[in-house]
Amino acid sequence: MKTSKKKLPTSSEPKQNNSDANSEEEKELCPGFKDVDAFVKYELGAVLSATKASAGLPQAGDEYDFYRSFPGFQEFCESQGDKLLHCMSQIMQHHGCRSHIRDRNKLTGVEERFDLVVDSNDVILERAGILLDEADGVNRNQNPVMPAGFQPPKIVVSSWNRKSSSSGSRSETFRLLHAKNVARPQLKFKEKVDNSNTPFVPKIFIKPNALKPLPSYFSNKQIRKERPEDLDVPAALADFIHQQRTQEHVEDMFAHPYQYELDHLTILERLLSKPEPQMYKPVAETKLSFIDSLEDLVALNEKLCKLSEFAVDLEHHSYRSFLGLTCLMQISTREEDFIIDTLELRSEMYILNEAFTDPTIVKVFHGADSDVEWLQRDLGLYVVNLFDTHQASRALNLARHSLDHLLKQFCNVNSDKRYQLADWRIRPLPDEMIEYARADTHYLLYIYDCMRAQLLESNHGQPGLLQSVWNKSKDVSLKKYVKPIYTEESYLELQRKQKRSFNTQQLTTFRLLYAWRDKLARQEDESTGYVLPTHMMIKISEELPKEPQGIIACCNPVPPLVRQQVNELHLLVQQGREMPLLKAEIAAQKKKGLTPVKKADVTLFGPHDTSRGSESEHPQFSADDVPVKQGILFSEEDRQMDIDEQKISGLLAPAKITVFQELETPADQESQSVAQMKAMRIIEAFENPFRMYLPSTGAHVSKNAKFDPSSKIFEISKRWKLQSIEKQEKELEVKKKAKEEAKKQAKKLSEERTKAKQSYQESLKNITTVRQQAVESKDGGTKRAKGDSGVGEMTPKPSKKLMKSAEKAQKTEPEESFKPFDYTQSDLKVFDGSKARDNTQFDPARQGQDFRKKKFPQGQKRNVSAGNRSMSYMSGKSERGFRNKWPKR
Ligand code: AMP
Ligand code: MN
Ligand code: ZN
Repeated sequence: MKTSKKKLPTSSEPKQNNSDANSEEEKELCPGFKDVDAFVKYELGAVLSATKASAGLPQAGDEYDFYRSFPGFQEFCESQGDKLLHCMSQIMQHHGCRSHIRDRNKLTGVEERFDLVVDSNDVILERAGILLDEADGVNRNQNPVMPAGFQPPKIVVSSWNRKSSSSGSRSETFRLLHAKNVARPQLKFKEKVDNSNTPFVPKIFIKPNALKPLPSYFSNKQIRKERPEDLDVPAALADFIHQQRTQEHVEDMFAHPYQYELDHLTILERLLSKPEPQMYKPVAETKLSFIDSLEDLVALNEKLCKLSEFAVDLEHHSYRSFLGLTCLMQISTREEDFIIDTLELRSEMYILNEAFTDPTIVKVFHGADSDVEWLQRDLGLYVVNLFDTHQASRALNLARHSLDHLLKQFCNVNSDKRYQLADWRIRPLPDEMIEYARADTHYLLYIYDCMRAQLLESNHGQPGLLQSVWNKSKDVSLKKYVKPIYTEESYLELQRKQKRSFNTQQLTTFRLLYAWRDKLARQEDESTGYVLPTHMMIKISEELPKEPQGIIACCNPVPPLVRQQVNELHLLVQQGREMPLLKAEIAAQKKKGLTPVKKADVTLFGPHDTSRGSESEHPQFSADDVPVKQGILFSEEDRQMDIDEQKISGLLAPAKITVFQELETPADQESQSVAQMKAMRIIEAFENPFRMYLPSTGAHVSKNAKFDPSSKIFEISKRWKLQSIEKQEKELEVKKKAKEEAKKQAKKLSEERTKAKQSYQESLKNITTVRQQAVESKDGGTKRAKGDSGVGEMTPKPSKKLMKSAEKAQKTEPEESFKPFDYTQSDLKVFDGSKARDNTQFDPARQGQDFRKKKFPQGQKRNVSAGNRSMSYMSGKSERGFRNKWPKR
């Protein structure tokens, strides 16, 4: 009872009945309160006195028991208690929470009531948080918003409670609309988005400003697009080829391409000494360019390469895409502002790596953590020499670290964060959104100056603090993008955050819905929140509707994909319902002899606090205790259960009940036949090459899926499990044969390989970076020559076409000496251990001819006039207008 009372104040809503006489006044916040301050003051007082009164009650234990022996006291307590419960129940009802708090039939103990209160508090606080964010100009629902086709007043006000200038315009400034029918930019992307359940591999394929060359895996990327499954071999073999190919590159594939350069980055002296802050130009007098063509982008790159610093920011969209989309890049120099359409130029943006990775040019960001990841993920861009004003703000211990705050403090500019979560996919961009975006970088260089000066000042002129900000910023630029990976345990993490206790049926349903949602989101390239918001997923799991209509009823509004697939969802719920009913926590206790998670702990943090709790906190079950059967996502698949289990035990993954703890099933080596052991070994050879890079050691990615980045992951994984054993055995046979054959072939191929390697080594000598090209492209070799060793001899202009074609074209021997390896001709003889593997490695010199043929069909004019060129050089005399030659990717 006492705890409930304490809870009450936090969950209490603004009381409506405090109106005074002057409630008619127009400007009143709500009846009786003329502004927020008055309201807060009053409510705070009420909360304080309630808390005080609650604390003044007789303490539990002796004191309370003594008082309770008086019937009067008892009566009073009961009536007050009832009143309170009624009041709480009303509040909870008001918020649509479960509110049978007074229902003695449904609830037995204080504990359950307490749970209800905690749940409701979560909901209410969450809602309050959202409203506060909204008031602050942020929409946490991530619903895309856009301005409602009107020009807002020129003076923008950051939020409704900061400065209510002219009361007339107030509602207008705040009016935002959902953007409907925005064309999906993904459709126009030259490279398809890769939503597969495989780790992210950097997009980079050319590396300017390199101290360490780009691993061959990336520079040969184009060639590897020829995927093994396109070849005419059985699926399992295609997997095998793919695995062999990728395994040797695993290290490179997941390293930060500029790790070495960043590790060896030293901050220039001039950047550690006190700067004279250079005032920003007034926005009105600053030229603004909108860049959506390759030509302009190249020109911008040229410009940036001549500077010693520029400011960068990105705008992002995450609702109608699985991984998210970088929609806009803002760049400000001391003189100019640029807005770049990164949707339009997505495949070309990598050009900017020349400036972005130049260690002599400072890139100023504010809070670059996400930006660094988005740059990698969508644009293949990296940052060397970053200054993050957010890190500086932390080091300076400023009151707040938002850009808003810095703008106010250093520039006395009231910024407007209303469009932060606008739908940045909209094209053409409305003027006010452009202005908003522009303001994010326009002042940043000046702020950078001021902050460096302050960092030195506050440290008595010593560079230590400033240096630490440079270091922290470097750490930010070292961040690597990590793709969301679905594992069979992912749902537990989400479930744990909800702090709902599910029974086995509910948990199974939740798991199936989670898998369905993830699969569909990847497939349709939508966010999981768009497919089925988490709170709806929880509602469905809790209610386990018997009818499809019941599922619809759990969702308001009904997500389009839920409506579309309601029957599938219904099947999933039915599967959940088929589970034997068991309360999760009880099962866990029984098994482990553990006490369940302490309630008191749970109440101390809010729904967004993920800082607490660990993996080990979720209830763990064992299949021993609970006779359950696995709910299946793809029930339509044929399940062959009548196969001799003995025979297949080595081939099939043990039936795994993922809701429950995975059983340690050490294979009983003794009892296995030779064939079984062999089969085991083969299966072990299929170990996921990405596994060590997966987020948690317990992560489980389906065995088949992991070889194939473009496959639909768990469809395959389920099929794998359910696949008929004969088929698997057949494949094993084929593989065995292939191995034998490959051995024979290996010798023959190794000769060819040695040759290929030789030629490749030689060709590598000719590789230069974009930067070097650029250096040479400038006849005067102006600023850009700095720090360059001048590798190349020629001075051609950089050409994108050639960067790529160079991969194909470079060679030091006549193309004819090597034939591209053709799997279809090989009789599958390449699958032999380490020796044969090398033969599958692609060599640009060998592949060049073939590849070019594909890319430029018959006689189509190419700009590759001479084959004997370096990786990135354009042959022949360069001309002024070389920019136009950067081809589209
Ligand atoms: P900013 O750096 O403030 O311009 O934000 C860049 C992008 O981050 C925006 O376009 C949003 O997509 C996203 N973003 C910023 N703030 C939030 C937030 N509070 N919640 C969710 N996304 C945000
Ligand atoms: Mn930003
Ligand atoms: Zn921004």
